[in-house]
Amino acid sequence: MINIIISPSQQKWNACAIDNCTEQEHCFAIGNKIFELLNDYDCNKLLIQPIFGTEQETLNKVVKQSNAFVKNNPADASFHLDIHTDAGYAGHGASGFYMSERGKSFIIQVWREISKITPWGDGNVSRRDLKVLRDTTATAGLIEVSFHDIPEEAKWIHLNIDAIAAAIVRGIVATTGIVKFEKPVHWAEKFYKGLLDLGMVINERRFKDPVNRGECFALLLQLAQILLRAVTRRNIT
Ligand SMILES: [Zn+2]
Repeated sequence: MINIIISPSQQKWNACAIDNCTEQEHCFAIGNKIFELLNDYDCNKLLIQPIFGTEQETLNKVVKQSNAFVKNNPADASFHLDIHTDAGYAGHGASGFYMSERGKSFIIQVWREISKITPWGDGNVSRRDLKVLRDTTATAGLIEVSFHDIPEEAKWIHLNIDAIAAAIVRGIVATTGIVKFEKPVHWAEKFYKGLLDLGMVINERRFKDPVNRGECFALLLQLAQILLRAVTRRNIT
């Protein structure tokens, strides 16, 4: 089993360039969507919730929650992803940070997927001594999705929450190898296939919908023809 810890930025003091938003708000929108997408995958997962307090207090609590989750859920491997947006006009687009070598290969995959969807040039992946990367027991990476203090980039973030979350999930899947749960097969599937094999034309599955009169006539006529053909064949042989 693989543990995945999603840790959206707690930086409510960082103002986003548009919509009276904060870094924390749009990062939690991304984090919530990631968590929803991860429901389809076989893994243990934790979404760290908004924490009240100063920067130091929130950092301490994030690390503590992440490490407690790893301790309480024995797994083959654990991954911690911190999700942020950037500021300071130091560049454009996405960059990633790591401390360990395993963290590096993790964040490279996530950064690569994000950089594919940003409409501008991106930063790099580099080593940085940050508490969430240094003190977490899970293999850790930090992604800066884009710049929230550049109105154009902030707007792109807000309009692309789902696409950003999907890209991050692709990066997580590529590194961790977590697999999708198989969708349950409806009990009627085998009967549907059997009718197709007999030559019955059915345009859609829609297993839970009622049958209307027109569909009933079509099915009955086809069934009559199939039976007639079978009887005729038997008489000839
Ligand atoms: Zn925002």
